[in-house]
Parts: sequence; structure tokens; C-alpha cells
Amino acid sequence: MGLSQRITTLTGGGSDGWGVFLKARRMIADGTQVTELTIGEHDIRTAAPILQDMHRSALNGHTGYAMVPGTDALRDLVAQRTTDRTGVPTTRHNVLITPGGQSALFAAHAAACDPGDVALYLDPYYATYPGTIRGVSAIPRAIQTRAEDAFQPRATDIEAAADGARSLLINSPNNPTGTVYSRATLEGIADLCTTRDMWLISDEVYDTQVWDGVHLSPRALPFMAARTLVIGSMSKSHAMTGSRCGWVIGPEEVIAHLITFATHTTYGVPGFIQDASVFALGQGAAFEDEIAAPFRRRRALAQQVLAGQNTVGLIPAQGAMYLMLDVRATGLSGEDFANALLDQHHIAVMPGESFGAAAAGHVRVAMTIEDTAFEAALRTLCSFAEQRANAT
Ligand code: PMP
Repeated sequence: MGLSQRITTLTGGGSDGWGVFLKARRMIADGTQVTELTIGEHDIRTAAPILQDMHRSALNGHTGYAMVPGTDALRDLVAQRTTDRTGVPTTRHNVLITPGGQSALFAAHAAACDPGDVALYLDPYYATYPGTIRGVSAIPRAIQTRAEDAFQPRATDIEAAADGARSLLINSPNNPTGTVYSRATLEGIADLCTTRDMWLISDEVYDTQVWDGVHLSPRALPFMAARTLVIGSMSKSHAMTGSRCGWVIGPEEVIAHLITFATHTTYGVPGFIQDASVFALGQGAAFEDEIAAPFRRRRALAQQVLAGQNTVGLIPAQGAMYLMLDVRATGLSGEDFANALLDQHHIAVMPGESFGAAAAGHVRVAMTIEDTAFEAALRTLCSFAEQRANAT
């Protein structure tokens, strides 16, 4: 019996871009020591007090079915945080708690798009975006941003691809580029969504990791609260990737429908995870800064290392836990560069091409290992690039 086209074509049939990552994992399994700069996961674990709170909540009996929309306490806290950050009055009725940002992305597209609708997203992109769109039977359409613009999207490029589109997905601070969208960029996008009557799905899971500039949520822009679905998560801000706790913020009517959707898909998020999230959010901005601090520090280290050479270019790295490096001066593709670096120096980075055609000739470095090893790996990467560039 055949399976649905939706499920068998989710990744679009092309390479999923994980070749270098998988090769690195095989080398490790065979006993080779590999420096992994591939995955967006903290090198610390969830803080003990958060786990203790989770434990306390579970022992107190919060282990049954939780309220599908999320607990009142967590929805209220997320709403308050959103009000504080955007100035837009937000209540629990604007918030659905989801199992991580990923399922929030899926739910938001399910709300915005009918089967066959075009859903726009920006290239380079976080690996799951096109598959998430296909998952709701919509048609993903990528719009390339440009290295020469430090991957800030141009409204004119989006406009040129917007015919028939129902939604636009953006991500700032951006994975994989580290770009933080400027107010001008977001205003251009907001205007376009209004003129074209499109939903804006704004993935803000890295909103606490900004090194340069400020994070602006498009929900804060005039008239945009009515057409913006914000995706948030505890994963990156609180080092709680495995807890699977995120949310969608949007107009009340959309959230009401998404609660029905959640009833028929996830049936909510465990109560003890939500209680621990309330506890974690209650630790305030100082705790979030502490979680972000290693990336801020390593980004500064990287700036120093890269300033000492001129073969590898650094996309400004304004936020998130990644560096996007331009290795075009070596004459290699991002993929060939990453493969050669892994083979010769046992350092694994992600080829830019894994994130879309716009990042060709680049590699993404995750700043997720301890400082000394991180700095040493970057120095090796740079001297490897110099040798390659000189050999061409
Ligand atoms: N959006 C982006 C841009 C991400 O990088 C990630 C995780 N790497 C997610 C969403 C999903 O995160 P989670 O489901 O853990 O909240």
C-alpha cells in the first residue's frame, strides 16, 4: 500500500545537507577525535535548579494531561513578556504553548496556508523550513538573500517572488547567518505583507542572543499584530532544547483555532515541563544573559582570530550561536571546503549549501564548544583556507 505524497516527499528529494555532519559522526564512532562545530546546541546542560523545579512539579502530581492550550501560568508569563518587549497588549488568549518551536512552526503554517498555497521563506534557511511547509501540503518557495547585503533580505526580492503567496516566514536573529534584521528591513517586510495580504510567520527563537543591534519583533510594528504569528521557544534562551517547550503568539481568533489543532495533534505539553518553564522564565534577564554569554564571548574571540587574516570573511554575526564564514577566496564550494577540513584536520563545520543556494561558498560554524578549543579550531580553519587560497 502506498504512502501519502506528503510524507514521502517531505524533504523535497534533494540532499538534506547533513552529509558532513554524518561523516563526522561516523569518524567519531570509529574512534577519531573530531571537533564538532555543526549543531545548534549549548555545550552546557539545563541548569540544575530548573530540573529540580521540574522534579518537584512531577512529584506534586503534575504528570497527567495538562490543559491543551498551555497552563494559565505559563501563557500569562509568555504574554507578559511579549507585552513588555513589543508594547502590544498581549494576553494568554494570544498564546498557545507547543512542544518546542518546531511544532509551533508547523502549527503556524497549518493556520496560514491551505494545501497548494505558496509559502515563502528566505534562503539561507534553517534546515526544517521547506519540509515544515510541505508538511501542511503547502508549496515552499525560497527567496535568496545576498552575502553582499550580509543576508538582510530586500523587500524588492521578496516582492518579485510574492505572486500567489499566502505567508512569509522570517527568522531574526537568523540561523544560519547570525544576521539580525534591521528596523528598515522589517518595516519593508511589514509593508509588503500588508499590501500583499500575507501572513508573517516570525521565528524569534534566538531573541535573547543579540550581540549587535537590537531584536525587534514585527509584532511591534503598526498593524502587524493582526497578521503576525510569532514563534518562540525555551530551547535556546534557557538551554532547554530537550524539554520541548515553545509557543505561537498571534491574534486571538488564530490561537482559538490552533488550540483545536493542538487538541488533534499534540494534545499539549507536559505540566511539569511547563512549570519548570515558568520557573526558568522567572529567573529573569540576568539568567538569559548567562546562557547567552559563552556565545557572546566566542563571537568576540572569532572576531579577533578573523581580524588577523584576510582569506576568510565573517558575515557580521550580530546574533544567535553561529558564524557564517565566506570561504569563496579558496575557490572551493562550502561543501568541498567542509569535507576537506574534516578529512585533513578533523574539524566538522556545516557547508553553507546545506542551508540553501544563497549560502554557497560559505560554511556555518556553531560556537558550541569550549573557548580554547573553539579558538584553536578557528585558527586551523583560517590557515587551512589560506593554504587553499594560495594553491589556486
Ligand atoms: N527555529 C530555528 C531558527 C532553529 O534554529 C530551531 C532549532 N535549531 C528551531 C526553530 C526549533 O527549536 P525548538 O523546536 O527546539 O524550539
